[in-house]
Amino acid sequence: MQLIDRLSTYLNSLLNLILPQRCLSCKKIGESICEGCLLQLPKESSPYGITTIFSYSDPVIRKAIWLLKYKGGTAVVKPLARVMHDRILEELSDTSEIMLNQGQKIVIVPVPLSKERLKERGFNQAEIIAREIVIYDYGKSFVPENSVLTKTKHTTSQVETKNKTDRMRNLRGAFSLNHPELIKDKIVILLDDVTTTGATMEECTKVLKRAKPRKIIKLALAH
Ligand SMILES: [Zn+2]
Repeated sequence: MQLIDRLSTYLNSLLNLILPQRCLSCKKIGESICEGCLLQLPKESSPYGITTIFSYSDPVIRKAIWLLKYKGGTAVVKPLARVMHDRILEELSDTSEIMLNQGQKIVIVPVPLSKERLKERGFNQAEIIAREIVIYDYGKSFVPENSVLTKTKHTTSQVETKNKTDRMRNLRGAFSLNHPELIKDKIVILLDDVTTTGATMEECTKVLKRAKPRKIIKLALAH
């Protein structure tokens, strides 16, 4: 990331502190996405066994993800993270997984970026979402583990690779597992911002399974 970009990101976060937050959708002063607009956002079903919360085709979600990805917008993620948090607890209580979990914390593993991409962007947007979920949760049920997966191979941008078979081939061996003991016998949430073909999540799941977690839930903010 260029110094000027870092400076502009820093200034933006500073401005966010001073200026009142406005809803991305209705422009009302308050939250980055107000409660009313949040309820109206179109929800997305779960393709490829991935729990996705919002639809990427929605302009508000697109804008929110753009702000998150390229500006490191934490404020914009807060309301979305709340919805993700509640949804995941709901899903787990439906299957009585939480009870079987015996008070153990659910581990959130954000999909990692390669060193090159991290340097270019300055942060990992999936880590920001994970952090917001944990903050909203007050650390009661979730714990983030950012080091469990690393992306050791720099792959071409997923957007440029068209079909799933190509993407899977592109990603083979791209991720490595560290500290398997952190997720052994635990419920793991593999978290990403956007999923398109599900290839990244599939490859990450394959790697995570080597550590023998109790269950892996694939969760994406949008599809
Ligand atoms: Zn609104």
